[in-house]
Amino acid sequence: MAPIVRKQILVKGVVQGVGFRPHIYKLAAAHALGGWVKNDAAGVTIEAEGRPAGVETFIREIALKKPPAARVDSVSVRAIRPAGEKTFFISRSGGKAAAAAIIPADLALCPDCRREMLTSSDPRWLYPFTNCTNCGPRFTIVKSVPYDRPATTMAGFKMCPSCRGEYANPLDRRFHAQPNACPVCGPSVTLEGGGLSFSGPSALEKTAILLISGEIVALQSLGGFHLACRADNPAALGKLRAAKKRPHKPFAVMVPSLAAARRVCRVSALEAAALSSSQAPVVMLRKRAPGSFCGPAPALAKLGVMLPYTPLHAALFSLLEKGGFPGALVMTSGNFRDEPICKSLPEVRSALSGAAAFTLWHDRPIHNRVDDSVVFEAAGAIRLARRARGYVPSAVKLSSGGASVLACGADLKNAFCLTRGAEAFLSQHIGDLSEPLNQEFFRETLSNFRRLLKVSPGIIVHDLHPDYASSAIARALPGRKTAVQHHAAHALSVAAEYGLEEPFIGLAFDGAGYGADGKIWGSEFLVFKDKAWRRAASLGYFALPGGDAGALETWRPALALIKAAFGPGWRKAAGVIFSGVSAAGVRTVERMLEAGLNCPETSSMGRLFDAFSFISGVRAETTYEAQGPMELEAVYDGRGAAYCFDIDETPGGYIINPGRALRAAVGDRLAGRTAARISAGLHKGAAEAAVEVSSRLCASTGIKTFCLSGGVFQNRTLLELVTAGLERRGFKVYSNRLVPANDGGLALGQAWHVIKNYSHKPSVI
Ligand code: ZN
Ligand code: ZN
Ligand code: FE
Repeated sequence: MAPIVRKQILVKGVVQGVGFRPHIYKLAAAHALGGWVKNDAAGVTIEAEGRPAGVETFIREIALKKPPAARVDSVSVRAIRPAGEKTFFISRSGGKAAAAAIIPADLALCPDCRREMLTSSDPRWLYPFTNCTNCGPRFTIVKSVPYDRPATTMAGFKMCPSCRGEYANPLDRRFHAQPNACPVCGPSVTLEGGGLSFSGPSALEKTAILLISGEIVALQSLGGFHLACRADNPAALGKLRAAKKRPHKPFAVMVPSLAAARRVCRVSALEAAALSSSQAPVVMLRKRAPGSFCGPAPALAKLGVMLPYTPLHAALFSLLEKGGFPGALVMTSGNFRDEPICKSLPEVRSALSGAAAFTLWHDRPIHNRVDDSVVFEAAGAIRLARRARGYVPSAVKLSSGGASVLACGADLKNAFCLTRGAEAFLSQHIGDLSEPLNQEFFRETLSNFRRLLKVSPGIIVHDLHPDYASSAIARALPGRKTAVQHHAAHALSVAAEYGLEEPFIGLAFDGAGYGADGKIWGSEFLVFKDKAWRRAASLGYFALPGGDAGALETWRPALALIKAAFGPGWRKAAGVIFSGVSAAGVRTVERMLEAGLNCPETSSMGRLFDAFSFISGVRAETTYEAQGPMELEAVYDGRGAAYCFDIDETPGGYIINPGRALRAAVGDRLAGRTAARISAGLHKGAAEAAVEVSSRLCASTGIKTFCLSGGVFQNRTLLELVTAGLERRGFKVYSNRLVPANDGGLALGQAWHVIKNYSHKPSVI
């Protein structure tokens, strides 16, 4: 008979709050092993004793058969002396010791719980707070570590005997499910408004009736409130847009199922997997009919779609279907313009009462406010555009670590990054820091993160921009400060994601970032070599009349660029294009350009795309960031040749000159050619120029590795054209997936700049 062996097994990864210990318990029972499992500081520790073959198979199956929400990063095993244990048990969490373990992100409703709550004979039928160890709220309800019920906003609810039985039974899928609840003992919903007040099941039924009849309802979801209404009701949408002061900005929709999503949009295999994942983000899908869903997403080919991710959503959609409405609901963040998403009833009353006459709220408080995440597919991968619910606070693994760093990000789409060892924890999307309430949100989230992660960063990184609110917040914090240039940070966010070692070349294309020369950069080719980075190429500087304030009017950069491209005769050659703009406005801007008044210089690729969106006739004035370029991409059909961008070699590096491309676009517009043709000329031309400059930089440096980042690379068409072009030349191309390419991922690159100790060398290569 084989001898008895005992092994100590340490499992690291996302292994707490995701049903990992019951999984180990069941595996151990299946192999008749003795021993125990417990949560501790590093993750989960197991001691297992039995026949060698049984123990070996058990160890193999730990990662192989893991629960759906768990992530196993490492399993280390060492042999120890057998203790004669015949039975297996689950040991209690080790109090303080578990502090360093990972707080799990929120998990979308799992198939088991969904089935249960949609079964009319089940005690949890339509119960909006059904959850188990594989699903439910996590980060949004946790106040401190270790992650146990008393440390969550469920602390005030006492489990009934039946729930307690589930919680205590290692073989139950609710074993140690901290938010476990049922209609007897758990939270409940209330509908208020219009003089009405309903609680419990009737609140949901009444909400469904109100939504079907075209009302807007403020609805408490997982990380905050949504404003919900029918996606096919122009009156409701008009009211919603007026109240949010969002005339065109796209709103996401929620549809009842994957099948329903497929009916209205084309869904690839990767997109389907993302929709159905436990993160359940908003996925940007291509509309089947270009003219459909014009209310939620006007003039765009894509629509943001998500599936019901809480039991409350699932119950609501089941009632909507019963009421004869199987369609889509707009579900947009419950906030006023750029303010933080509302998380409590008082906030809703002060910010959203103008938008929604009715509020469906519940008494399980939201501790950490978190917006919906947004992803899109491009160049064969799912990529984050907004990293929040479902992804936060999961860490991005770094290839090396060091002292804790706090990186404060930029002012638009702010998210900060806090490192602990070789892990980078990005905050949820915080938003535009010019909004004072978002600065408050930043501070609130930073203090939550520091408490949960138990770190106090010694180095604080901020953007080079002296006037950024994020820089001011950083300067006010204790610790050593350092500033990192915006586009170096963009490029490094990619290097950090992939653990890339230098040398490599970063292409950072975006709207605006403070340059090392004090100008507004935005299309930078940066060479990373010998622990330093150098700017080796960019778009030629052009004037931005009115600076940032003019960024919503695409005709302003268009006028500056056209005037530069055509010279004094620009009016004769292209003046007619400006016939839709006020003549006085054009004259004023012309005078500003001639006097050099309030016309900062920029190399922004975003503003160049703005200008082309104007020249193409797509958009002269915008109401949200990147509207012009997004609408210009929407009309792209691939037909039409690339416009030619000249590349000048100067002592300061390569300069991309857009003059010839601008003259060609103006010619096409005046000849009555379509916006699609101009869109193709620009997308293909800009990509060819990027590839050509990259090739020349490779020729002079020998570097064949490229990192693409910056908000402009969220343009799927451009990202795919540049990636394909570089790969055709035999280069290795990397681009953001785990963090947004826009400023939402910037903090990761800032932190990596410090960890890898890069510096800026002004000289070109
Ligand atoms: Zn579940
Ligand atoms: Zn109960
Ligand atoms: Fe940026």
